[in-house]
Amino acid sequence: ADLLEIQGANPFRIRAYRRAALNIEGLADNVETLSLGGSLDKIPGIGSDLAGKIDEYLRTGRMEFHEQLKKEVPLGLAKMVEIPSVGPKTAKEIYDRFRIETIEDLEALCKTDKLLCVPGFKQKTVDNILRGIELYRRRRGNYLLGRAVPLARELCKYLEGAAERVAYAGSLRRMKEIVHDIDILAASKDPAKTIQAFLTMPVVESVLAQGGTKASIRVQDDMQVDLRVVDPQSWGAAMHYFTGSKAHNIRMRERAIKQGLKLNEYGLFDASEKRLAGAEEGDIFEKLGLPYIPPVLREDWGEMEAAAEGKLPNLVEPEDIRGDLHMHTTWSDGKYSAEEMVDAARRRGYKYIALTDHSKSLGVAGGLSDEDLMKHTDECRRLDAKYSDFRVLAGTEVDIRQDGTLDYSDELLAKLDFVVASLHTGFKQDRATLTARVVRAMQNPYVRVIGHPTGRLLGDRDPYDIDLDEVMKEAARTRTCLEVNANFHRLDLNDIHCRKAREMGVHFIISTDSHNYDDMLNLPYGVATAQRGWIEKDRVLNVKPVEEMLNFKKKFRL
Ligand SMILES: [Zn+2]
Ligand SMILES: [Zn+2]
Repeated sequence: ADLLEIQGANPFRIRAYRRAALNIEGLADNVETLSLGGSLDKIPGIGSDLAGKIDEYLRTGRMEFHEQLKKEVPLGLAKMVEIPSVGPKTAKEIYDRFRIETIEDLEALCKTDKLLCVPGFKQKTVDNILRGIELYRRRRGNYLLGRAVPLARELCKYLEGAAERVAYAGSLRRMKEIVHDIDILAASKDPAKTIQAFLTMPVVESVLAQGGTKASIRVQDDMQVDLRVVDPQSWGAAMHYFTGSKAHNIRMRERAIKQGLKLNEYGLFDASEKRLAGAEEGDIFEKLGLPYIPPVLREDWGEMEAAAEGKLPNLVEPEDIRGDLHMHTTWSDGKYSAEEMVDAARRRGYKYIALTDHSKSLGVAGGLSDEDLMKHTDECRRLDAKYSDFRVLAGTEVDIRQDGTLDYSDELLAKLDFVVASLHTGFKQDRATLTARVVRAMQNPYVRVIGHPTGRLLGDRDPYDIDLDEVMKEAARTRTCLEVNANFHRLDLNDIHCRKAREMGVHFIISTDSHNYDDMLNLPYGVATAQRGWIEKDRVLNVKPVEEMLNFKKKFRL
C-alpha cells in the first residue's frame, strides 16, 4: 500500500489494500489455512483479485504485482519508505523536489536548510527523519529473534527430505534477541543433493556462494542463510561448534586439551586421533566430564564453572508457565474480547490469566475510565465463575503518570486481583524523575509487577534513562516482580538485566502482553530471555499455583 501511495495511485485502491492488510492481521485463523481452504476471498475487504495475489505470495514467497511495483517506484523512494518516521507522502514530496537516490543523500539534505523551505516541513520533521535514518542503519542486518526463528524452522522443513538431520545453529539457537544471519546445519551422506535442495527452495532470492559442503543464499529482507553439510558421525560436534559462542567454544577446547584430547567441529579425539564422541552433542559434554549445557547458556558467562561444579541453574522452561499475566482485550486496544482471550488461554493449557487492559489516561490505547474498569472487572468475575479449573483475574495495566502517581485510585486498585504498572509516557524525563516514578509505583501495595521495565522497542526505540540498580533493589524489597515481556520487539527486561536482577534477589513474571492470539505464541522468546539471564523456576511467579502467586506481594503489606 505504501508503494501504491507513492505512485499516486487511486486513493480508493490504496485504502482497499490497507484495509485488507488490517483485516488479514486481525484474522483468527492463519492466512495460510484459509488459502488452502480456498476461502481467502471471504475475508472482508478481499476480493478475488487480492485473494489471488495473496495466494501467489503464500505459494511462492513473492508477489509479481509487488515486484512490478518495486521496479516502477524509483529505488531511492522505495528505500526512503523503509526509514521509520518517513511516511509515503513525505518520501514522495522529498523525492519529487530533490530526486534523492540514496539514504546518504537524504541525510546530507537534512543537514542543509533546503528541507525547511518546503511548505509543511518544520525542524521537528527534519530531526525525525535524521533519527529515522539512524534507526534504519542500526536495523539493517539485524533480525529480531521472533522473525528469524519461524523462518529458520521453515527452511529446515524444506531440507528435511534431503538430509538425515537438519537444524539451525548459531546465535539463533542460543536465542539471542537479535541475530545477523541464519546458520543451518545438515547431516547428509550426499552433500550435493542437500545443497541442490537448499539452492532451489522457493524462498531463495539470490545465491551468494556455493561449494561442495556449504552454500549461502539471501532470502526475504536481505537475510543471509548459510548451510553447512556434515557427515552424520560429526553432527553433534558440528552442532556444538556452529552454535558457539566463540568464547564458550574456546573454554571447551581448553578443557579438552587439559584432558589430553582434541575438540573441533568434527568430533572429540584422543591423542591417537581416535574419535571419542561426535555424532551426538551430549556425548561431547559427557566425555569432557560435564553435564549438558543448554545453548542459551553458552556465552562464557560462568556456565563452564557452574557445570564443572554441578551448579547449572534449574532454568525455567516454557511448559512451566501456568498463566499469562499481561493481556489486552477489546476493552482497550486488544483485537479479541475477554471471553475469546480466556478461551485461547485455556486451549494453550494455562491455569490462569489476568486481563490487564490499559488505564484511563492512555486515551490512544483505549484506556478504561473508572466506571469501565468496574464493568471490566464484573466481566472478569463472570468469566471466572464459569470454570472450576481456571482462574480469570481482574486486572489492569495501570499507567504510571508523569508525576509518579497511578492512573487509578487505591480504592479502585484494591478491587482488582492483579495490577501491572507501566510507563507509557514521559520517556524523555531525566533519570532521577523516571526512576522515582517506578520506585513510587512499586511501593504501592497493589502493584505486583512493573511491565516492560525499560520501555525499549528493539530497533525502534532506546530504553528510557532509568536507574535499574535502584529499581531492582526496590523491586526485591517491596516484593514487586519485574516483567520479562515476551513480545519479541521488547524482550524487556533483557538477558543481561535478568541476570543482574536475579543476583539482587528479584522475582519475575514472564508475560506476553498479548493484543491478539498470535502474540501468545511469543512466550518462548520471553522464557529464552529469562534463561539467558540464568533465571530459575523458583524465581518466576507465574510458574506457581495461582494462590501462591497472589500471596507473594502480601508479605510486603504486613
Ligand atoms: Zn504497556
Ligand atoms: Zn500491555
